[in-house]
Amino acid sequence: MVCKGIFSRHKAMRPTNGGMRYLRGQKRCQVCQVFIYWRDSYCPCCGYKLGVNPRNSKFKLTLRSKNNKKQQESITNLLA
Ligand SMILES: [Zn+2]
Repeated sequence: MVCKGIFSRHKAMRPTNGGMRYLRGQKRCQVCQVFIYWRDSYCPCCGYKLGVNPRNSKFKLTLRSKNNKKQQESITNLLA
């Protein structure tokens, strides 16, 4: 996916209190790696579903799969 660069109008500014982006109605596109103010659930740029919950299960799954990969690598090293 290539970012079309239409975020200049929607790009969210860094909140002064720090961190609470999602609570301020900002959403994150994992593809464009940008926080935007957008009412739709899908990125206006690439069409990928926007993240609205900082504690969503997908993120946890990503962490878990990374750990699994590490374990698999260590096992592979032991077998090699
Ligand atoms: Zn996007």
